[in-house]
Amino acid sequence: MASSHTVLMRLVASAYSIAQKAGTIVRRVIAEGDLGIVEKTCATDLQTKADRLAQMSICSSLARKFPKLTIIGEEDLPFEEVDQELIEDGQWEEILQQPCPSQYIAIKEEDLVVWVDPLDGTKEYTEGLLDNVTVLIGIAYEGKAIAGVINQPYYNYQAGPDATLGRTIWGVLGLGAFGFQLKEAPAGKHIITTTRSHSNKLVTDCVTAMNPDDVLRVGGAGNKIIQLIEGKASAYVFASPGCKKWDTCAPEVILHAVGGKLTDIHGNALQYNKEVKHMNSAGVLATLRDYDYYASRVPESVKNALVP
Ligand code: AMP
Ligand code: MG
Ligand code: MG
Repeated sequence: MASSHTVLMRLVASAYSIAQKAGTIVRRVIAEGDLGIVEKTCATDLQTKADRLAQMSICSSLARKFPKLTIIGEEDLPFEEVDQELIEDGQWEEILQQPCPSQYIAIKEEDLVVWVDPLDGTKEYTEGLLDNVTVLIGIAYEGKAIAGVINQPYYNYQAGPDATLGRTIWGVLGLGAFGFQLKEAPAGKHIITTTRSHSNKLVTDCVTAMNPDDVLRVGGAGNKIIQLIEGKASAYVFASPGCKKWDTCAPEVILHAVGGKLTDIHGNALQYNKEVKHMNSAGVLATLRDYDYYASRVPESVKNALVP
């Protein structure tokens, strides 16, 4: 019998369960103690066994249920038969009970592009900064990020044995974002969150130009967007290439669903159609509020150095 739910809502409900499963894989690899670290392009661009297994799990689980999707994962992996143990078949019922925004009701499976970052914040993961890590599944339609899921496997890991470990945040444009408590950053303060492991002169020049009251240097694009929606930072400023479409797709949706804005450093919206280049060459600028203040302060020298 055909499901009465739309493709988009079934996909989001499945992505929620699949991201949760990936979160358990990320925790299991640490618990087993062998991270299997591989350098990709350099010593700050790493891949671990958790990145590999989580991507296999996410991409295979999605492809089995939604064979016509375009799925783009961060990791370049050899084709191999995926262990049944890595397949997640569940879907989060609470999401299926939500109405699909009317503009997305007619979307077909083959119209959707899914951007997968199986483990965002790998450098920090290898250094034990575990709450920096997220699993990102972003969904795009006609080049626009419209739905996303973020699993934070180690949320609460320092909060004591009674705290629930891990959480999943999800959102759809026109419906909202769920799984966290929206909080405003301190009024009148410019608290900038930026990279910890991928800094350079452009990055610091741009941060300094924001006249910051405080600068938080943490790992992960997903983690930094969570800081914006939970009031810990007022702007995510990254004036450098390096961040990719799978880093921004899901986080952008969560931010946009609650009224924030994410663009490149010039103010251009990011595109997520399947032909687009993966690199966000002109950096990232994101805020929950006061976007114009931060955009107006990006130095011309920084803009000239970062070609979209
Ligand atoms: P960060 O804020 O440094 O955690 O970066 C956010 C995301 O972009 C992470 O997935 C990083 O791996 C990626 N990224 C940023 N800059 C670079 C870079 N120079 N080389 C490789 N990956 C990068
Ligand atoms: Mg990433
Ligand atoms: Mg990654």
